Parts: sequence; C-alpha cells; structure tokens
Amino acid sequence: MKKPQLVWFKKDLRIEDHAPFAEAASRGPVIALFVYEDEIINAPDYAGRHHQFLNECLEELNDQLSRLGGYLLIQRGNLVQVLQQLHEQTGFEQIWSHEETGNAISYRRDIAVSAWCRENRIGWNEIPQTGVVRRLGNRDGWAGRWAQRMNAPIIPAPPNVTFYSKPESLHLLGTSAFSGIASDSASSIQQGGRKQALQLQRSFLTERGAGYRKEMSSPLTAEESCSRLSPYFTFGCLSIREAYQTARDYRAELYDRKKDGQKIAPGWFGSLKSYLGRLRWHCHFMQKLEDEPSIEFSNFSRVYDGLRENEWNEEWHQAWCEGQTGYPLIDAVMRCLNETGWINFRMRAMVMSFSSYHLWNHWREPSLHLARVFTDYEPGIHYSQAQMQSGVTGINTIRIYSPIKQAADQDPQGEFIKRWIPELEGVPIDLIAEPHKMTSMEQMMFGCDIGKQYPKPIVEHAIAYKSAQSRMFAARGTKAARIEAGQVQKKHGSRKRSSRAWR
Ligand SMILES: Cc1cc2nc3c(=O)[nH]c(=O)nc-3n(C[C@H](O)[C@H](O)[C@H](O)COP(=O)(O)OP(=O)(O)OC[C@H]3O[C@@H](n4cnc5c(N)ncnc54)[C@H](O)[C@@H]3O)c2cc1C
Repeated sequence: MKKPQLVWFKKDLRIEDHAPFAEAASRGPVIALFVYEDEIINAPDYAGRHHQFLNECLEELNDQLSRLGGYLLIQRGNLVQVLQQLHEQTGFEQIWSHEETGNAISYRRDIAVSAWCRENRIGWNEIPQTGVVRRLGNRDGWAGRWAQRMNAPIIPAPPNVTFYSKPESLHLLGTSAFSGIASDSASSIQQGGRKQALQLQRSFLTERGAGYRKEMSSPLTAEESCSRLSPYFTFGCLSIREAYQTARDYRAELYDRKKDGQKIAPGWFGSLKSYLGRLRWHCHFMQKLEDEPSIEFSNFSRVYDGLRENEWNEEWHQAWCEGQTGYPLIDAVMRCLNETGWINFRMRAMVMSFSSYHLWNHWREPSLHLARVFTDYEPGIHYSQAQMQSGVTGINTIRIYSPIKQAADQDPQGEFIKRWIPELEGVPIDLIAEPHKMTSMEQMMFGCDIGKQYPKPIVEHAIAYKSAQSRMFAARGTKAARIEAGQVQKKHGSRKRSSRAWR
C-alpha cells in the first residue's frame, strides 16, 4: 500500500495547471488539505471580504475534488501543528505545494514548515506557479525566464485520482469553520471561484477587452473594460500562465482572422499587448517582495526613512479611509472601494499618492487599509506599488496626482463622483471637482451645504502639492539618494529599456 501524498492548497485554489496536485496524484493516494491559519486571518491585512472570497473558492474547489471522487480536508490552526497531527493520523509521505510569495507571516510559517519537514524527514516539494523566481540572485534575463515559464505547457487536471480514504479520527471542517471572522460591510465584492474567473476571462477576451488600452484609466469605463481577474490571480483560481496562454492564443487567432480578410474591432491588438504586458508586471512586482521581504514594512530606498514617520495625522487618515477628504474624486474612489473591493490602477495610484503627498502620511498604515479593502490584495504588488506612489523606491518618477485634474480627465461629467457621493447630486459639472468653491448662494441652490453635508477640503491642494514636491525633490537630490537609487535599480529594476513607467 503506497503512502499518502499531501497536497497543501494555499493561494492556488484550482486543480488545473496545478503541478503539485498532478505530481502527488501520480505517486499515491492524495490528501487535499487547506488550513485556515489563525495568524494569517487575525493579521491587520486580512478582512471579511477576503474571507468571503476565499470561502467561495474553497467551496468550488471542494466540488471539483468531489467530482474526482475526493474531498477537500479543511483544518484550522497553526500549520505545523496541523501537519504534525495529520502525519500521526495518516503517515503521509511527502508534501506538495506551490511556492508562495506572501506576507511576513506566511514567510515565517514556511520557514517553520521547512524545519518541521527536516526534523521529521518528510520531503516538501515546492513548485513555482508564477514567473517569480526563488533565490534569483540577479535580475538580468528575468523577462526571458518569465516568458519561458508562461509558454510551458499547461498541466491538465489529472483525470483519475486516488484519494486517501478519510480515517474516522479526521474531522472534516466546512467553510463555516471560521464563522468568527467579522463580516464585511461591502455590498458588492466579486464572487470567488474558478467559474467566475473563466467567465470573466471569456467576456474580457470576446467583448469587454477591445477598448482596454484606452478605457483602463477612467473609473467609469475601467469597470467593464479591465479584465477584473485580479482577485482570481490572488487566490489562484486561474494561473497567470493560463491567462497568458489564453490571451496569446486569442491574439494569434485574431491575426489569422485578419489575414483572412475579416474585420477586427479596432483596439484589440493594442489592448491585448497591454494586457499581456500587465500579466508580466504582476510577476515583476511580486519578484521584488520575493527578493526583499522587508519592503512590506520598510522603504525600498532607506534614505527616505524618517521623511514622513514623525508627521502622522490620524484625523486626515480617517477622513481618507472613509471618503471624507473634501476632494470628490478621492472620496468617490475610497467609498467605491469600501463597497466593492475594486478600482482601476489609475485611481489606486491617485488615492495612494494623495495620502502620501497631500496628507504626508507614511505609506504603511494607508497601504494596510487598502490591503483590507482590495479583494485582490497581493502583497508583492501591493507594497511595491504603495511605495512607488509614495516616492520612496528611489527609482520611479515622482508623480503627484492632482485630484482636480484627474476628475476633469477621467470623470469629466462627474458621473462617477455623483454615483458615490449622493450629497453632490445637484452640483453642476464645472464645480463638481471642487464643490468648496461654491458660493453660499450656490450651495443653497444646488442643495449641498459644504462643511455640513459634504466636508471642506482637509488640506489645500495647491499648498500641499507644492510642499510635497519640494520636500521630495530635496530628499531625492542628495548624493546618498542617488547612490541608493542605483542599488535599488540593480536589485529590483526592470532590464527592459522601455519600462520606465513600471519599474
Ligand atoms: C497602490 C496600489 C496598490 C495595488 N495593489 C494591488 C494588489 O494588492 N493586488 C493586485 O492584483 N494589484 C494591485 N495593484 C495593481 C493594479 O491596480 C491591479 O492589478 C488592477 O487594477 C487589477 O484589476 P484587473 O484585474 O482588472 O487588471 P487588468 O488591468 O485587467 O490587468 C490584468 C492583470 O495584470 C496585473 N496587473 C495589472 N496592472 C498591474 C500593475 N500596475 N502592477 C502589477 N500587476 C498589474 C494584475 O494581475 C491584473 O489582474 C495596485 C496598484 C496600486 C497603484
């Protein structure tokens, strides 16, 4: 009788393109395990919406495994203790999992698991699932390795799997095992699971994505024109490789159709190029956290340490979190995020920039708030972007977004603002981005008393902008900053020549 093989599911909640599951299934009876880890669930970057999404993914994964004649063993607790108990009960031979580039808690837990495996002489086979390379050493040639991984064959779900028959002593927990998690106030976050991911991918590649490149920046059009696949990548319902190959093959099909004289909607080729590029960015940013886990807490470029730490303004931070800053586009985005868990890149960059530059608050707490409200929270992308939009990487152009200009560019009719800030419903378009400029008479006429129904701006844009700009340029102009920027670029920067915007 072969010993069982343990497949440890984490942020890879699928059975297709799942090398650990396929490898384990080819060797012996499989135990498919997921563990609700208290430390992860109680951490400040975890929220009810993540839990809800996770549970939906787990239920679907359990259905998939049931169709193969198996089950998902859900346990709760400390990972090492769960492994120890399970080993005593089943005597599993090896652990199979994907590599994970997560937060500091999952990193520490992986170290503990590794030590436990060594002590107990149990093999732990960790297999990459994205383009992130472990123990990379040097960024040279990274993009080529990424392409190689993305073009490798997709691993089909094994058709026949022998599952380890559950011993009586093994208590099966359902997804309600963790009902203690505070439920979320959000009314419309995305639904978890692979079915949703595949549906979104299909609708993006057949209809929604044609205008992606042009429409991704406005919060009005992005909602439909972006893929909306990010939470499914975060929880691994769909692999980046699957998404890459589906888009790559669709592009080839469009080229063939074009050659045959068929009319292809304008925009498709440019949009697919942008989308494929962003799938690479996904891994590029995660690679930064893999290479330097401390960026979850510390500046990429340490010469910026101390720049904002001692000037924290809690009142402004709360106003920002609640969408009460007095800047309508900022407030609309923050309220939209609180309700839906998603907003497009440009708006994410703008709210992060506002917190770091206009409010001059250090990025760590604000990025935790965003981590809790983004359903797609992915630490590697998240902290790299948070730092990038705060000017502390040393290698990115300093970009201070004006919430007034962004409103004029991305929401010229004030439609998005009015959707999320009903207090401003009656305010005319020319005043919608700066309603505090209304006279008392106008406030009466348009039904919005500034300071009562909608707040006055918590900071003055022009003054805050100028101050941030001069402080940033002063900090950036030092010799130490230039030297460190070179080091950050060497360690983390893209080697692609045209990539200034995203490195
Ligand atoms: C401050 C800040 C924090 C962010 N935090 C996260 C996060 O926690 N999780 C997350 O997935 N994305 C994050 N992003 C990146 C980006 O905004 C989202 O990936 C994107 O908006 C998700 O929507 P989508 O799936 O429709 O993306 P699409 O535009 O359809 O892009 C497809 C995929 O490409 C990847 N991608 C797109 N843009 C970027 C980018 N700029 N950097 C890296 N990968 C990208 C994502 O995996 C995305 O799902 C953050 C951006 C900023 C400015």
